[in-house]
Amino acid sequence: MREESDKELLDRIAKMLDGGLKTMTEPFPEDNFQFDVIVRELAHIKKDDVEKKLVVSGYLNHPIEEMRCMECMYYLNHRKWCNLPEIDLPAEPDWWCRLWRI
Ligand code: SF4
Repeated sequence: MREESDKELLDRIAKMLDGGLKTMTEPFPEDNFQFDVIVRELAHIKKDDVEKKLVVSGYLNHPIEEMRCMECMYYLNHRKWCNLPEIDLPAEPDWWCRLWRI
């Protein structure tokens, strides 16, 4: 089977979020320990289980206050991609998740 392009995957994720997928936006990690707990949970999810990765990371299709993917240290702007290895999924620049970091 042909592999899904980045754009197709981005569109699929946008549809899931537009469709009202409830993701875990809380608790927002307050320190490295709490951040690592979420990252470890993500690491156990199968790579192709996109929905579960979105839920656990708390993906949203809009910013939270001043926080957007665009300013996050994991964001690859030219590719519209979240490069946190445990997420490794496309994202629009004005989206957000609870692993946001600068
Ligand atoms: S970690 Fe979250 S906020 Fe940062 S680029 Fe990835 S999806 Fe966006």
